[in-house]
Amino acid sequence: MNDCIFCQIAAGTIPAAVVYTDDDFVAFLDIRPVSAGHLLLVPRLHAERLTDLPDAVLARELPLAARLARAILATTGATDFNLFNTNGAASGQEVFHHHLHVIPRMTGDGLKVTITPVAYGPGEAAELAGRIAARV
Ligand code: 5GP
Ligand code: ZN
Repeated sequence: MNDCIFCQIAAGTIPAAVVYTDDDFVAFLDIRPVSAGHLLLVPRLHAERLTDLPDAVLARELPLAARLARAILATTGATDFNLFNTNGAASGQEVFHHHLHVIPRMTGDGLKVTITPVAYGPGEAAELAGRIAARV
């Protein structure tokens, strides 16, 4: 897509600090990193969400994310990492071309994901699990 920033980075028409590229994927440093080495792994195929991609692309994505995570940790000295993915505006997606964030982490780095858990009523979890299971 012409007006998609990640398609343009993948095509090389917009500069980025690229760390990996092949026929199907490109990975580059996030321009507003959560921590030094924060990467975005992006399929060249323009698809808004994880759920819009063919299985063949998805099957390659996770091994590549693991490979990138190993390289980030070896390079930055970070001990840990997060994989993060947004799907839709309510989830925080800002660039509507699917991507995985690979984020280096260290004990005490001060980053916090704050979650206030919702509570299930009696029997509610089992009932919901059953309804989801019927659609998987
Ligand atoms: P999202 O919130 O959509 O999951 O994350 C999009 C990410 O893309 C953000 O972390 C943002 O910093 C990054 N980003 C947005 N525009 C650019 C860009 O032009 N270049 C690079 N390298 N990263 C970008
Ligand atoms: Zn795109």
